[in-house]
Amino acid sequence: MKVEIINHGSLVSFYPLDDDAREWWDSNVAECPMLGDRYFVEARYAADICNGINAELEEEIECTWCGGECYTTYANRRNELFCSKNHRDASNRALKRFLSKSEEIA
Ligand SMILES: [Zn+2]
Repeated sequence: MKVEIINHGSLVSFYPLDDDAREWWDSNVAECPMLGDRYFVEARYAADICNGINAELEEEIECTWCGGECYTTYANRRNELFCSKNHRDASNRALKRFLSKSEEIA
């Protein structure tokens, strides 16, 4: 989910950039004025919306290997997160292959 947020002072504009963001907006934010594709919210309400967006983003962790949603996370030593041990191992193997190839070239 991606949202562009711009602070204009007394107003903050929110621009949902993908379907996830538009769905989240429709189910979490009451109607508010739009200009083009952007929603304009009074600054005093914007903080709550930002908190809501952050909470949603924290729940959604993407697997570094397959891009799928992680229900359980497996981290490697570089702190990348994976949806399964298999994908963590696959990523480690790919990195090792890549590193040995670069050594051959160098
Ligand atoms: Zn995965």
